[in-house]
Amino acid sequence: MVMFRGLSRFLRSSPVSVRRSMSQSSLDGKVAVVTASTDGIGLAAAQALGRRGAHVVVSSRRQANVDKAVALLQSQSIRVTGTTCNVGKGEDREKLVQLTVDQCGGIDILVSNAAVNPFFGNIMDSTEDVWDKILSVNVKSAFLLTKLVVPHMEKRGGGNVIFVSSVAAYQPMQALGPYSVSKTALLGLTKALAPELAQSNIRVNCVAPGIIKTRFSSALWQNEDIVDEFKKQLSIKRIGEPEEIGGTIAFLCSDEASYITGETITVTGGMGCRL
Ligand code: NAP
Repeated sequence: MVMFRGLSRFLRSSPVSVRRSMSQSSLDGKVAVVTASTDGIGLAAAQALGRRGAHVVVSSRRQANVDKAVALLQSQSIRVTGTTCNVGKGEDREKLVQLTVDQCGGIDILVSNAAVNPFFGNIMDSTEDVWDKILSVNVKSAFLLTKLVVPHMEKRGGGNVIFVSSVAAYQPMQALGPYSVSKTALLGLTKALAPELAQSNIRVNCVAPGIIKTRFSSALWQNEDIVDEFKKQLSIKRIGEPEEIGGTIAFLCSDEASYITGETITVTGGMGCRL
């Protein structure tokens, strides 16, 4: 009781801006679906959203990875539900959405984070199969999952959709042509959806990470020569951490970002990629 009296005195005496930021960053009562969230950036996004009070639904292709992520998040007192979902499969996307609605009562946030890159090399050597796979998982499934969750967000009076793109969206990376193009498409998808979904009080934003220390990018950061080359392009002379993307995603989903939609935030340590 004494502690609560102290807290209410603090809230009464603290500046309006402090009180506002405390409540506006809270995601209490929100339900967040994060794809590809058993490792790397997706897991960091789930942690950031969960720490702000959201119930997070984590998923990826492998049950063992889902079990590990659920156990980790539970150990951090985050409310979490886990299931397998390969975002490239329609039946898996539907199962993910249905399970979330059945077990959590609705959906407020979608973080579409999954991506594949099955091809390294000259873009002229890439095949139709490569393009089908990359565009299907990285772009088409991001849209189709959005289409599935929007009616549930509308029932809650609004929501947030976040796409995870890449710095490669702005400047295609050498040997990653088709992947880079798929990430450019997500910038377009963000802009195409934002005005339409604003009518339903749903904001649509995108995050473009630079080089972040995860398994996905290990071929880059495990090679010291490549890291040294990248550092020349960075203002902050280090590789980024997944938590630095997770925090940006949580900010975009919060009321602190209530006037931001159709936007992509680059989180690159200052890598020059746009004006
Ligand atoms: P990561 O650490 O390797 O994690 C990948 C996660 O995706 C795992 O949980 C994996 O679990 C899951 N996954 C893979 N394919 C999937 C699929 N088809 N359906 C559902 N889940 C799938 O990767 P990351 O670096 O965090 O990458 C996440 C996102 O960030 C991607 O969109 C990537 O393009 C983007 N990004 C990364 C960097 C970087 O430097 N790391 C930079 C820019 C953009 P399972 O194996 O169990 O499926």
